[in-house]
Amino acid sequence: MLNPALQPYLLDCPQCGKPFETQVHTIVLPGSPAFEALKQAELNRSSCPHCGQAGYLLVPFVLYQPGRVTCFIPHFQEMSEQARQELVAPLVSMLRQVAGEEFEAEGQVQVGVSENYETMVQLARGEVGAEGEEAAKLRYLIGILQLMLQVDAVQLAALKAKHQDKLPALVELAEGFAAQESGRNPAMVEALQALALKLKETAPKVQEPYA
Ligand SMILES: [Zn+2]
Repeated sequence: MLNPALQPYLLDCPQCGKPFETQVHTIVLPGSPAFEALKQAELNRSSCPHCGQAGYLLVPFVLYQPGRVTCFIPHFQEMSEQARQELVAPLVSMLRQVAGEEFEAEGQVQVGVSENYETMVQLARGEVGAEGEEAAKLRYLIGILQLMLQVDAVQLAALKAKHQDKLPALVELAEGFAAQESGRNPAMVEALQALALKLKETAPKVQEPYA
């Protein structure tokens, strides 16, 4: 039986232009040779038999770890919702076929996507959580920012005091979002810019109420 996890891949060498055929892993199961290759950042890395030029074949693959499925899909952010589904769904269903019972027995698995090869390597090595440290930090900051947009002046002062070390990052984030929303959502732009200004003000000494 053909191994659906290992597929032939034809390409023209970006260096010398000559065509060659290689193989790509599309499914990475824990403990497999593909898994070990990913940990070494060698998965789907190939060299041209004509000129020796080596490089990564940035093709989608799926990494399965207990309770978690992570699809590697380059340029995911730039894709339409339909294009995304057309890539994610077959990867997961192929994984289901190959991993079989083990996968079914798990029941609910968390399916994530990364467009960053390095993140996939770190996941395989167990160095980061499902979404990656960077993303988790950003999500945390966005949460604080959303809260800050909703509270009154007194609560804002308290939040500023609490998150003093994160104020520069929050200002940058608020200004970034304001620029993104520019021309689309004037009210949001105004709110974000006003918040950024307030965050830049020197924090007054906050009296802990009834502390
Ligand atoms: Zn070549």
